[in-house]
Order: sequence, then C-alpha cells, then structure tokens
Amino acid sequence: MSMDSPVKHSFALTSRYHAHYPQRCGEALDEALYSTDAYDAWRSLDPGRASPVFSRFAALPALTKRELRAGGPQGFVPHGRDVAEGLAAREIELVATSGATGDQVTNVWYQPWWNASEAASWQLNAHARAAATGSHREAILTSPRCAGFPCEEGYLTMEQRTLGRFLFLSERSDPSSWSSELMNRMVEELNAFEPVVLEANPSFLARLSRHIVGRRLYVYSPALIVLTYENPSVLHRRQIRRAFDAPIASSYGATEAGYVFMECESGRLHQVTTTCHVDFLPFSSEHGGPDVGRILVTIFGNPWRSLVRFDIGDVVQLDGHTPCPCGRREGLTLMSVEGRTMNLTLTPEGRAVTQGTVDRALGSVAGLLEYQILQTASSSYHFRFVAEEAAMQSVANEARDALRTVYGPAAIITTDRVEAIAPAPPGKYCLSKRLEPIDPDVLLDDQFAPSEL
Ligand SMILES: [Zn+2]
Repeated sequence: MSMDSPVKHSFALTSRYHAHYPQRCGEALDEALYSTDAYDAWRSLDPGRASPVFSRFAALPALTKRELRAGGPQGFVPHGRDVAEGLAAREIELVATSGATGDQVTNVWYQPWWNASEAASWQLNAHARAAATGSHREAILTSPRCAGFPCEEGYLTMEQRTLGRFLFLSERSDPSSWSSELMNRMVEELNAFEPVVLEANPSFLARLSRHIVGRRLYVYSPALIVLTYENPSVLHRRQIRRAFDAPIASSYGATEAGYVFMECESGRLHQVTTTCHVDFLPFSSEHGGPDVGRILVTIFGNPWRSLVRFDIGDVVQLDGHTPCPCGRREGLTLMSVEGRTMNLTLTPEGRAVTQGTVDRALGSVAGLLEYQILQTASSSYHFRFVAEEAAMQSVANEARDALRTVYGPAAIITTDRVEAIAPAPPGKYCLSKRLEPIDPDVLLDDQFAPSEL
C-alpha cells in the first residue's frame, strides 16, 4: 500500500460471527487473489495473510458488473476447472442476467451451490424452516422472463407451466395488462395446486391480491409467501396481506451472488452467513449514513465461482444495533433493503433519498395503489399514480404532502393519475428514479469507500 492511500475501515469488525467465519472469509479471499485469473490486478493491494481478514477485504476494490463482463465466465472460475468441460459434463450452465442498464453478464450457474444457498436462507425464518423441505410444492408468480415460460400471445396450459414441484402462475410479463380471466385462472390454480410456498414478485402478487379482494374470491393460503425478484413496497405488502392469511418473508439475493439476506419472523433481514460475507459501506452522514449504505457480497464454497466484494447495486439500512427479537445474532442484520442505487433521488439541496424513504412516506396515503416518482431536475419531481376510484383527488393531495416531508418545501411536485403502471423489462417495477443518474460512489463515507486499482 502506498504512503498516501488512507487506511480503509471495515464495518464487519462490529458484527458477530461464528467461530469458523473469519477462516472461511480468508479462504474465499485467498482463492480469489491466488487462484482466480480475474483478480490478478488486486493482489498488489492485499496487505497480506498476516493482516486480519476484514482489513484485507477493506483494502480491496469493489467488483462491478463491468469486471464480470470483462473477465468472462472462465475468469471467475478458480484454477483447475474449465467451463467448457463443466458444460460438456452438464455439471454447470451459463445463465445471462440483464442489468438495470441493459448490460448483460453471463454467469456460471452451479445448481447444487444455489440450492445450498437457498436452504441456508430458510434457516433464518421459522416459517420457512418448518415448511420448506426442498421437495415442497411451490407456486411462482413473477415475470416469466425472470423465471418460467414466457408467452405473450395466447395462453399456456397448467401442464405447460409446471416443472417438477414448481408451478409458474403467469406466462405474461406485464401485470398492468393481465385480464380478469387470467387472474381468475391464477386463483383457481392456487386452489387446486395448494402450494406450500408461494414465491412472488411483490408487485405481481399485489396486482393479483387487488383482484382477489375486489372480487371477493376465495384463495388458498400457503404456509409461507416469499417475496423476491424486487424490493417490496409498503403498499404491495399491505395489498397482499388483505388477500392472504399466510406469513410473508422477503428474500434478498441476486443471480450473481445467491441468497444474501432473509427476513426473519420478526421482520428484520439476517445475513446468510453460511454461504456469504457482506461488507457494508456506509454513506456519509450528509446522505443518511452511517446506518444507510451500500453492500458488497463475497460468496463461500462455490467450486465454480469466485466472487469477492461484488457490488450488488443495492442500498440497505442497518437495524440500529438493537438485538432482533427472534434471537439470531450472527452477521449483519438489516432493518430494510432500501432499493437500488439507481432508485436514489436527491433533495433540492442535494441529499440522497432512498426508495425506501419515499415508500414509507407514501405508505400512509389511503387509496394509493401504485406509484412512480421521477426526479426530472434538481428540485422537480413527477409523481404518477394509480388510485382507488373514490380517492382520486385526496390521493394526489396527500401524496404531495407526504413527498414534501421527504424532499422539503423547495420541491416542485407535479402529479399525474394513470390507469396502470407497467414494469420495465424484464418485469420489474421502478418506484423512484432520477432522470440523470447519481454516481453512488460520491455518497460514501471515505473511510469505508473501496480502494481504487
Ligand atoms: Zn430476526
């Protein structure tokens, strides 16, 4: 390390971990730096094996999707394994993910590791632990472009949308265009299939829930609803709770990194410490730190993938250092996932506002069904919304007031009532966004910011 580069701090020093955890971190780090081609340039930044492992992590850069693309699938495979051979032996697959900016990353997919990561996440929620056996029936409601069988013209039969123990409820990727007949079919299939777990994209399940409540339909309640694919809005959760009796848990992860956090039965999110390490990078106090910040994920035990300090692109809020009532104490505990860095907006004075902050403020607006905030200039915000028929005018006024509590009196807020809001491809809703994207690096507390190569 050169004389002028400041010592970087690690937030992990304030968390509790099981006895073998630092060693697992060290193994993951050594495998990356000394046996994986993509990390060659990082080696000179490593303070060395004699240093505490969390300090070694802190001295390194962040891994971005740009590097994942540049290294290619083979670049992140530890020495001794070959992608072509793994594919030929059908041990692995290649899975492409499309990022928010449309940039595609091709990942080596090793199903046994993914399954282990998912099973480890179930241990962090009492309902999941009791219900999810790995052979349980599961219904999935998400964009078929994320998982399932896409079909935008005509419809598929239930058999065509069933894969082993999984039933994919929708072949259509835009809930704003779902017909009543399609949603009736989903309800009938839930009642016939009786899934143990319903895994859903929250905005998709919220749309179905509004239909169920509006038509007063009977719907089977699974043992657990797992929300994933996108960050659930307060509104989505409320609409789902009106239609289903089941407990709800939010599961957080990424195609690149597996399962990273799971919501416990007390409503906080616990780190899946068996299969990953998480570095927390707090924002500066001006932008909501030190309890709000970004996260970098390092994975353990995947023989086909070395992933260290991967910038997963989300903003989280720590739980404020009070122990979770569920009794789990290990690793990072979050109060919330606050949305993606691309969902950040700024106050007219230039302070960062997370999607979670906007969402909680709008959560109390009665009659609001869906919304989207677009910051069009430094103090201009455009609010599009879907409202219950009877509440059109009150929603516009109440939402404007709620948004003023977030953005302050200088904010100019325009509103636009619409019939429906469609998700962006491949099927994810965007609740808030700034027209001119924010560089998330400038929001960080310097002491924790990743080193530059
Ligand atoms: Zn808990």
